[in-house]
Amino acid sequence: MNEYDSNRILDLVKPMGYVTTDNLLDADCYVLNTCHIREKATDKVYHDIGRLKKEFKNKKKPMVLVTGCVAQAENEEMLNREKYIDGVVGPQSYHQIPSVIKEIEKRKNKVNSTEFDVIEKFDSLNLVRNTNSKVSSFLTIQEGCDKFCHFCVVPYTRGPEHSRSLDEIIIEAKQLINNGSKEITLLGQNVNAYEYKNKAGNIFSLADLIMKLNEFKDLKRIRYTTSHPNDVTKDLIETHKSCQKLMPILHLPVQSGSSKILNAMNRKHNILEYHKIIENLRIAKPDIKFSSDFIIGYPGETEDDFNQTLNLIDKVQFINSYSFVYSSRPGTSASKLNNVDQEIAKKRLIKLQAVLEKNNSKYKEGFLNKSTEVLFENKLEKQDKYFGRDKFLNSVIVQSSKDLTGQILDIKINAFNHSSLFGTILSNDKRNFAA
Ligand code: SAH
Ligand code: SF4
Repeated sequence: MNEYDSNRILDLVKPMGYVTTDNLLDADCYVLNTCHIREKATDKVYHDIGRLKKEFKNKKKPMVLVTGCVAQAENEEMLNREKYIDGVVGPQSYHQIPSVIKEIEKRKNKVNSTEFDVIEKFDSLNLVRNTNSKVSSFLTIQEGCDKFCHFCVVPYTRGPEHSRSLDEIIIEAKQLINNGSKEITLLGQNVNAYEYKNKAGNIFSLADLIMKLNEFKDLKRIRYTTSHPNDVTKDLIETHKSCQKLMPILHLPVQSGSSKILNAMNRKHNILEYHKIIENLRIAKPDIKFSSDFIIGYPGETEDDFNQTLNLIDKVQFINSYSFVYSSRPGTSASKLNNVDQEIAKKRLIKLQAVLEKNNSKYKEGFLNKSTEVLFENKLEKQDKYFGRDKFLNSVIVQSSKDLTGQILDIKINAFNHSSLFGTILSNDKRNFAA
């Protein structure tokens, strides 16, 4: 979502004459769009500003804005702690960035803009064209969270759940498709909690929205992330069966394989319910694959709880996962609990990641000498190689002297490493040669 937000920030400041630069020292204004989900993400912000101060030591100081969830959580404190920062702007206030910049320019004031104006934000953003022209684009449809898992800062930094109107989303999707997007990933902190009621009182769900997008001829692939298990509805499962453009991979964070820990986390589902959802999705879409998020060493996690997580991984065979040691976040309920021994937590994480890596390698090996359908996104820098993703989000790299950007091609896989599959072009699917 931060990537989507960064692109929208750029759309907002373009009319003021700002463009992006790859050369740090050329920047007149430096926007650091931040994440607050774990402590390390926050530390990185101060580290980056330290680096910036050094780089600009003998040059005119650029305007420095910190946006995103760290700005929301730390706001005034940040301005006091680090004088190099000119403004902090929360994730629901970034539509105000043009006026924040003007105010800093004019009055040399420090500016704090951290209100929750999510409706106003999207109203303002709708007036600014989305100029993102990537083959694969993100589109935020839902923001915030009302679930309050005990470990998580999102409900505090992104605010309560809000779903954008169906019409706004369709207009933005059209812009992206006209700009060349062949794939759209619908985004939300709980994207499958999407629910929009129009003026006539009709309610639209994520499944309804996907079926609307399905009608766009030039849009070839649809994805959505991140889903909460409790919001996987029957009609969403049915959509996986009926909508061929909906890709057969679902990121469904589970956090832990132990029902006791899930309960302590306030996840509101147990592990049997999680298995049932997976089973129903597999019945609807037999080739569907799953990826997940894991939190290791949550307060109260015993060796037995951890083994239940390993057990779950063995049963579901996730193809890609994010796993981290639990990070205590200020203001959350879990921050009052006693942490498990950090050495034990780290050892468990290493063990879990080794199992995930082994499964991933076995899964990738299964691609050898087989074909997979890839949408190519971009050329690799200074090489005649193209990067794309197959239906399951595996990254695939292919050598080609011709531009493959925007094409969907069958690729025969002949090698792999921990991050990518490598192959050769097998066939040109003429139907997809729209680019
Ligand atoms: N809404 C999604 C997840 C959004 S947060 C869901 O509920 O599934 C993204 C991920 O960050 C979470 O799935 C979780 O694994 C991780 N995360 C959140 N808070 C964390 C914390 N305090 N420590 C470690 N990981 C955390
Ligand atoms: Fe955080 Fe997801 Fe839980 Fe919401 S549902 S509190 S975003 S982990």
